[in-house]
Amino acid sequence: MQKRKVDVVVIGGGTAGLVARRTAEKEGASTLLIGSEPFGTTCARVGCMPSKLLIAAAESAHAVRKAGVFGLQSTLKVDGRRVMERVKNERDYFVSFVLESMDELEKTGKLLRGKARFLDAHQIQVDEEVVEAKTTVVATGSKPVIPPPYRQLGDCLLTHEEVFKLRDLPKSLLVVGTGIIGLELGQAFHRLGTKVTFLGLDHFIGPLSDPEVKTTAENIFASEMDLHSHHRLVEVRKINEGVEVQFEGADGKLIKDVYEYVLAAAGTKPQFDGLDLEKAGIALDDAGGVTVNPSTLRVGDSNIFLAGDASRFRPVLHEASHGGRIAGRNAAHFPNVQEYERKVRLNIVFTDPQMAMVGSSWKELEGEEFSVGEIDYARQGRSRVMAVNQGKVRIYGKPGSCEILGAEMFGPAVEHTAHLMAWAIQNGFKVDKLLELPVYHPVFEEGIETAIENLRAALEGAEPCGCRCDEYGPGV
Ligand SMILES: Cc1cc2nc3c(=O)[nH]c(=O)nc-3n(C[C@H](O)[C@H](O)[C@H](O)COP(=O)(O)OP(=O)(O)OC[C@H]3O[C@@H](n4cnc5c(N)ncnc54)[C@H](O)[C@@H]3O)c2cc1C
Repeated sequence: MQKRKVDVVVIGGGTAGLVARRTAEKEGASTLLIGSEPFGTTCARVGCMPSKLLIAAAESAHAVRKAGVFGLQSTLKVDGRRVMERVKNERDYFVSFVLESMDELEKTGKLLRGKARFLDAHQIQVDEEVVEAKTTVVATGSKPVIPPPYRQLGDCLLTHEEVFKLRDLPKSLLVVGTGIIGLELGQAFHRLGTKVTFLGLDHFIGPLSDPEVKTTAENIFASEMDLHSHHRLVEVRKINEGVEVQFEGADGKLIKDVYEYVLAAAGTKPQFDGLDLEKAGIALDDAGGVTVNPSTLRVGDSNIFLAGDASRFRPVLHEASHGGRIAGRNAAHFPNVQEYERKVRLNIVFTDPQMAMVGSSWKELEGEEFSVGEIDYARQGRSRVMAVNQGKVRIYGKPGSCEILGAEMFGPAVEHTAHLMAWAIQNGFKVDKLLELPVYHPVFEEGIETAIENLRAALEGAEPCGCRCDEYGPGV
């Protein structure tokens, strides 16, 4: 058995792991990254990037279909093979950068390829080698949860790990789960011509928790797609033609249909398989995870840190990267562990209309005193110009201090306006300060300005301002 000794071992060559190792090294520690195939990061390989590539194709198809609204005639022919080919080629382009950096790392002897498992809190084994470390950052990502009735579907069962390998668009797809991944991918396939049915539970719609925003989103999605945000599964079985599914919808009606594939998008859980975490003195909870303090990412009072999806703290890319920096710094300076402030929560879902969560959610604020300012996009000027005037945004503020607490957003271009809200909250801007800032006309941001005006009115106990047409022009 070979042996080596370093200050910091990082397990997992995804975004969080790569950042953690680089940070620990910058802070003066000797480091080793242990990573198992497939390399390339979840984000670039099977996550953020291929999903957005598929959505980009779907948006183009949708724009062509919608062109009639503007008096334009067009016909659309979707070439499924070429759609999937572009998704894969562009995806491979993004992955190639990561693979190059892994090769560079390997040349310096700071990468060990293979699956890591703990022997104890300071020793990690990879094949025939044992590495002794002062501290370890576990950044092993997450894996999809597959509900038991769907586990026996063989090749007909897809998760985000397999779906981008398809050579052609599916003819039909049952999407199990109406969360972020299910809605993003399902709507994209739907707009590219796949027959898609969504099966959800408890009217779960992406990350939304505000009943008004959620109902708006549910109604708008259901008007376009075969969406069952609550159902009872009766039977699912593999047949020659694909998968036969029978379920009862929220209205009690029994529905039976056959699909070429099932896409399991019912959530993810930390990937700790084969790590033998218990040998390092770390016990998993009932949900298969480990609770860490998000400000230090340290596990209890151990010498082990978690980062990225493995930590369960906001499983999105920019938080994986930020978490990698925190864990890397703390691992390098152990036992001098510091608390670092986390960014304001920002979550964006690339459906159409888009969804976003900023700061505190409606659910988190439940029970506290807070006021709401909202905008319905039906009359919003720029949105009507672009024929995307659907959705609702609700912004929450604190009575007394007039602080902005958070927002739940469903509407056009919220990927941009959500950033403005997050930056405003993180900088501690209050309602009045925000309303002093310039907003051009006509832009989507005017909708947010209206919602903030309405929030100010709610905080002051005044009537909402509705439309400020006389001041700014129509449909603000
Ligand atoms: C379909 C989809 C779309 C998404 N879209 C977005 C988006 O638009 N925006 C956004 O912000 N986020 C998005 N995300 C989430 C984002 O991709 C993740 O939060 C992020 O990639 C997690 O990075 P990570 O470093 O924690 O994990 P990963 O990148 O998964 O890295 C974990 C690594 O650990 C390795 N590993 C596991 N076990 C071991 C072991 N025992 N030994 C050695 N190595 C091991 C794995 O092989 C893997 O390489 C999306 C995710 C999915 C699935």
